[in-house]
Amino acid sequence: MLALQGAFAAHASIIESLGVATIEVRTKEQLQTVDALVMPGGESTTMSMLLERSGMLDPLRYRLNDGLAVLGTCAGMILLAVDVLDGRADQHSLGAIDLTVRRNGYGRQIASFEADLDIVGIDEPFHAVFIRAPVVERAGPGVEVLAMVDGQPVLCREGAVTVAAFHPELAGDDRLHRSWLADAGLISI
Ligand code: GLN
Repeated sequence: MLALQGAFAAHASIIESLGVATIEVRTKEQLQTVDALVMPGGESTTMSMLLERSGMLDPLRYRLNDGLAVLGTCAGMILLAVDVLDGRADQHSLGAIDLTVRRNGYGRQIASFEADLDIVGIDEPFHAVFIRAPVVERAGPGVEVLAMVDGQPVLCREGAVTVAAFHPELAGDDRLHRSWLADAGLISI
C-alpha cells in the first residue's frame, strides 16, 4: 500500500483477507521490497507532494518502468496517467498508463455517485462508488478499457498497470482485488 495519504487501509484489509500480506509504504526502501503496489484514492496533489518529499518519485518511476504491478484508484489513477487536466501546475505525473484524465471531471452535482458496472472478466455487475472522481478523456491505443460509465472508461489496464476512477475497496466486494492479484501472479483463482 502506498500509505502517504488517503484510503489505503480498506484496500489492505481486502488484500489481507485474500491471503496476501501487505505493508504500508512510506519510504523508497520499503518501495523496493514490494511485489505489487496499490496507489489509493485520496488527494492526488497531496500525494504528489509527499512522493516528492519522500524521495520516492524517481524510484517509483523506475519500478513502474520495470513492470511493477500496480492498482491505482481515483487519486492513484490521476498520478499514474500520462496527462492530467485541471491538476495543479506542480503536480507530478508518473506517466505509467496512456490516459488523459480530468481531475474532479464529473463536476459538482455528481461529484459523488454510484453505478453498477459490467467489468470485462467479472461475471456479475460490480457496485462502484465514485468520489470526486477523474474522468478519462482519452485512452491511448495500448489501453484496454475494462468498464465504462456513460461511454467513458472508468476501469483501464495497460500492461501491469490497472486503474479505476472509482473506489473498489468500498464496495464490500473483493472481486476486483482478486482478479488484480491473480493478474499480478500473487494468488491463483
Ligand atoms: N479529486 C481527488 C484528486 O484530485 C481524487 C478523489 C479520490 O481519490 N476519491 O486527487
